[in-house]
Amino acid sequence: MSSFSLQKLVRKNIADLVPYSSARDEFKGKADVYLDANENSLGSPLPKWYHRYPDPQQKAIKQKLATIKKVNAEQILLGNGSDECIDLIFRCFCVPGVDNVIVCPPTYGMYQVSAHINDVQLLQAPLLPDYQLNLAHLETLVNAHTKVIWLCSPNNPTGNSLHRTDIEYVLNNFNGLVVIDEAYINFSKHKSWISELENYPNLIILQTLSKAWGLAGVRLGMLLASTDIVSILNKAKPPYNIPQPTQELVLKALDEVAQVNSMIEHLVDMRNALMEVFAEMPLVEKVYPSDANFFLVKMSRAREIYEYLVEQSIVVRDRSSVTFTENCLRITVGTEQENTKLVNALATWWEQNPPTAQS
Ligand SMILES: *Cc1c(COP(=O)(O)O)cnc(C)c1O
Repeated sequence: MSSFSLQKLVRKNIADLVPYSSARDEFKGKADVYLDANENSLGSPLPKWYHRYPDPQQKAIKQKLATIKKVNAEQILLGNGSDECIDLIFRCFCVPGVDNVIVCPPTYGMYQVSAHINDVQLLQAPLLPDYQLNLAHLETLVNAHTKVIWLCSPNNPTGNSLHRTDIEYVLNNFNGLVVIDEAYINFSKHKSWISELENYPNLIILQTLSKAWGLAGVRLGMLLASTDIVSILNKAKPPYNIPQPTQELVLKALDEVAQVNSMIEHLVDMRNALMEVFAEMPLVEKVYPSDANFFLVKMSRAREIYEYLVEQSIVVRDRSSVTFTENCLRITVGTEQENTKLVNALATWWEQNPPTAQS
């Protein structure tokens, strides 16, 4: 990575930016009387301290996360979901109408949406038929304006992890930023890239509390990177991007690592069992390998089956008309009861729709 230069990658307006300085930034000590932030000094209709602005740097959460993730607190940026972190990367590093980024479809749709919102050109190096990186194609796309390569591993919607050696190749040979979205890492048998942060100054890792931690409604995304990258993103983030209720709930949840670990173990067991059942179903053409809490299934009559399941009040994700996932449904692992209901419904469909000459 001899030619990696963060100074060259960051947008000039961000490098030159004087960030907003909040009341809590300007006075960090303890006082008896706070008359510096125009809050309602009488309180609020809610109990506790909701009349006060929350900690803009979420120090208590970062301290706990630093211990759990084995990084320094300064290497963490928290967002209102990973989606805010994704947008921040675009806004700090990609000049609208000039720069480009590369994505590897089929993958998480937010990279593309965020690119479009920010008027940043999106180049695509589709995954190979086994849903692994096409390094040769990827290399041909990179040009002087390529700022970010977006990787997702385990990948959504395919479920598989990308080969470690392929990701290493990208990290070693691309002088822009490499984002690895690890939203599903807790369900994977492969280890996180966090321990490689010290080796790769161009690496950004995204994780979230929305999946394994069971806190999709709370909205907390984490970005892990070098302190230099985090400082740049920090300048551009909205000062109070993580609300007080979220901060309180997250602090409580982070003490429950053991409970979360046992849920992960249960979900992975159920995923493996469910995938085996699907593999035996006559209507299933292929069950793709999964390191996540969902899996992708190819079925010859996927759209019909999707609609039938909706009639049975069971909703899966229809990816059947999406390029690279033709005839596929993406199925999230449910509770034991939900999984049984799904399997029984599919068995009934099969009985009612025997194969024909055309099928
Ligand atoms: C679900 C998911 C996320 C999580 O987004 P949040 O905004 O944190 O809820 C991020 N990346 C991928 C690939 C996902 O599937």
